[in-house]
Amino acid sequence: MFVPRIAPVSAIVLRALPWREKDRLLILFTKERGKVFALAQGSQIPQNRLAPATQTGIIATFWLAKAREFDRITDYRIERFLTRMRRDVFALAASSFVAELLELAMPMEMPDEEMFKEVLWFATKLEGDIQPVKWLVAAQIRLLWRLGWMPRLLACCICGEVIESEEVAFAPSVGGSLCGNCWSKKSLSDAQFFPYSVLQAIYSLWHQPLLMETLHMRFYLWHRALELLRNHWRYHLEVDLKSWRVWVQLNSLHLPISPLKPSQL
Ligand SMILES: [Zn+2]
Repeated sequence: MFVPRIAPVSAIVLRALPWREKDRLLILFTKERGKVFALAQGSQIPQNRLAPATQTGIIATFWLAKAREFDRITDYRIERFLTRMRRDVFALAASSFVAELLELAMPMEMPDEEMFKEVLWFATKLEGDIQPVKWLVAAQIRLLWRLGWMPRLLACCICGEVIESEEVAFAPSVGGSLCGNCWSKKSLSDAQFFPYSVLQAIYSLWHQPLLMETLHMRFYLWHRALELLRNHWRYHLEVDLKSWRVWVQLNSLHLPISPLKPSQL
């Protein structure tokens, strides 16, 4: 008799897609195997025993059985309930944002334990009273760094000179910030100007992510930081994020005067 090999994985659910009539296909980020797909059979039916574990952001141990197409979930144990994203739409948008980035950027079946640890750390941190916008900036720069896509921020990526101007040109195609001199010599179509304080904040959060609890900056500048990171991701991933639109729309609805114009969508 054929007995399928079943092995447990520690995982966070990045996304749950409806699959066929009654199933869900989960995109998991696991400690043991990196990104994997796993089928939760029957989990679109509310009373199905796998249903509670098939939601974005669930942290659980899943027992996976090897199957021809996708691994099949045979059992699970929820390790942590993240509750803030169920009551705070900004926290939900921020965590979905990072889930989308992980789904796009992480290769299949390539374990990265340090990345996994960091993702869990950030997931747990969002449960506190941290501002989702700061959390999102910190999580993104740490992710970029772990993926080897860390931009140069406080020094010119061409000549290495320390940047001192108040407004800084940032071009993902050359790796980040440019000094005035190099900027004037190059014509880079993807360059955009950002306040120095934005670059400094991103750098500080990369260096010490816990500063997201205390670092202060005008709200508008946090959104500039997200724009910079968005440009950088777009260059590396070659797609625009669905989460970015959601995030901008959400913030436009909730801000009395929106600093984000429709043209920035
Ligand atoms: Zn330079």
